[in-house]
Amino acid sequence: MSAAGRLAAGLAALERDGLTRVRRTLETAQGARVRVAGAQLLNFSSNDYLGLAADPRLREAAHRAIDEMGVGAGASPLVSGHLRLHEEAERRFARFAGLPRAILFGSGYAANLGILAALGDSDTEIFSDELNHACLIDGARLARAQVTRYRHNDVRALESALARSSAGSRIVATDAVFSMDGDLAPVPELLALCDRYDAWLVLDDAHGVGVMGGTGHGTLEHFGLRSPRIVYMATLGKALGGYGAFVAGEADVIEWLVQRARTYIYSTALPPMAAAVAIRAMDLVDSDFTLVAGVRDRIEELKSRCAKRGIPLLPSPSAIHPIVLGTPARAMEASRALAARGLLVPAIRPPSVPPGTSRLRISLSAAHTAGDVETLIDSLAECLRT
Ligand SMILES: *Cc1c(COP(=O)(O)O)cnc(C)c1O
Repeated sequence: MSAAGRLAAGLAALERDGLTRVRRTLETAQGARVRVAGAQLLNFSSNDYLGLAADPRLREAAHRAIDEMGVGAGASPLVSGHLRLHEEAERRFARFAGLPRAILFGSGYAANLGILAALGDSDTEIFSDELNHACLIDGARLARAQVTRYRHNDVRALESALARSSAGSRIVATDAVFSMDGDLAPVPELLALCDRYDAWLVLDDAHGVGVMGGTGHGTLEHFGLRSPRIVYMATLGKALGGYGAFVAGEADVIEWLVQRARTYIYSTALPPMAAAVAIRAMDLVDSDFTLVAGVRDRIEELKSRCAKRGIPLLPSPSAIHPIVLGTPARAMEASRALAARGLLVPAIRPPSVPPGTSRLRISLSAAHTAGDVETLIDSLAECLRT
């Protein structure tokens, strides 16, 4: 078959299996209410957990940074692209995370590739939760390490795999909050194993930062943990409203990433605006307590109302709440029925989730009101009855 013929056959197969993705075009800023194809929709699909993506205070920080520093960094960080705002943002995040030092990457995807390929090599074994985000999986590949997948959150399976390992070095990599299920990794138990087997613990807190922990500082705060073994990654594109990602850890770990993380070294530094937005977002999490409290309240409301109405949720302490329906067709049908009622709740299908677990994925935000959650539950009850 010709190269183009293979593509066409691939696309036809996706269509046949109900797996074709279609992008919606939002005609408004990200938020609790968006317009798509002229229709207003109540939006439960974004990762904008604190409602900061279009916040006027972050817009103002961006405008100021553009006025002072322009729109582009102009070079990679090690050449001349590391500007004052990048340096300040890294120092601010180290304080925010409670770890000695931090580095600012272009995105969470780039950060995870950079971490795993810099810490791992062909003499490394990387232990990876089977539900990890794609960029941890790709990072492990890029490291050319031996990869051992363990059953989701199964500490005993991980322990026996670690005990069998004869690799020169070991890395345990996991989402801290799982992106499609919303549940937490058993971080204290994982850390104890890493101590015992001399492994790094790479924690991806894309969905925990800004939401988990008493003051929204993330999953380490939630568990009250600090350790020199932890390499902590938090993205800026979700709760913190902007774009980019931090990695925090021991000073030597961060220095190693500066020296060796190829996705850091060979990529243009973020626009300084993104660093200014990150700083302001952390300041807001620390000063405007309605943000973290807002998303927490919505989570509690969703859980208690679903329990009352018999709508089955998975156990999730985070802002992510899946309703597993099984086939792609069932998930798509439920998502369409909700859209017809003015609600944007995405259907998630393989390969984002394992086959047979296609689902609706609800994500909550401080920008939602209690009434929005009620509207969601009423519509869910109607749409899932059939
Ligand atoms: C979104 C996400 C990423 C990627 O972060 P970006 O900054 O969007 O590239 C990494 N890990 C997890 C778990 C995510 O959900």
